[in-house]
Amino acid sequence: MIEPPSLEELIAEFSSLPGIGNKTARRLAYHILSRPREQAVRFSESILKAADHVKPCSRCYVFTEDEICSICRDRSNAKTICVVEKSSDILPFERSGVYQGLYFVLGGVLSPLDGVGPEALHIPLLIERVKTEGIQEVILGLGSSPEGESTALLIDRLLEGASVKRSRLARGIPMGSDLEFVDEITMLRAFEGRVIF
Ligand SMILES: [Zn+2]
Repeated sequence: MIEPPSLEELIAEFSSLPGIGNKTARRLAYHILSRPREQAVRFSESILKAADHVKPCSRCYVFTEDEICSICRDRSNAKTICVVEKSSDILPFERSGVYQGLYFVLGGVLSPLDGVGPEALHIPLLIERVKTEGIQEVILGLGSSPEGESTALLIDRLLEGASVKRSRLARGIPMGSDLEFVDEITMLRAFEGRVIF
């Protein structure tokens, strides 16, 4: 490569990000270097600041800068938990305003091929919370991938016998799509039409 090593390294960092191919990574890296140094400093500092301050809520694992996130604090009386794969998946629920309950972020979905079993997710804590906090409905918002489906089925099975309603989002979320990017109307429909197990 004719690029200097430090530039190559920057390109490699960008291309390690989701959705960023080599071409885009190179374009971003060159763009950063073409602007004043202060902008590069600000950019790198904001990455560090977020990495240092943002952490999972100790109750629901949604990203927060506090010990307990504002949703857990403000909705402490809510009796529904919506289970999602990752923190950003709560955004379409919040944007559409369709849901006013609690969340629980699993931190992934079952993926035996990648060695992700139930113990790698936060499933035991979820089950305990549902059983001890008088939760009335668990909404499984896990997307429509095969991994999401089998994770939903496992949670449903583990909650059998607990007196709690279990539901899942209606079809309409495009197959295999990332919940995070679902638009508000689709989310509204999927939520309102949610199916009881
Ligand atoms: Zn929380």
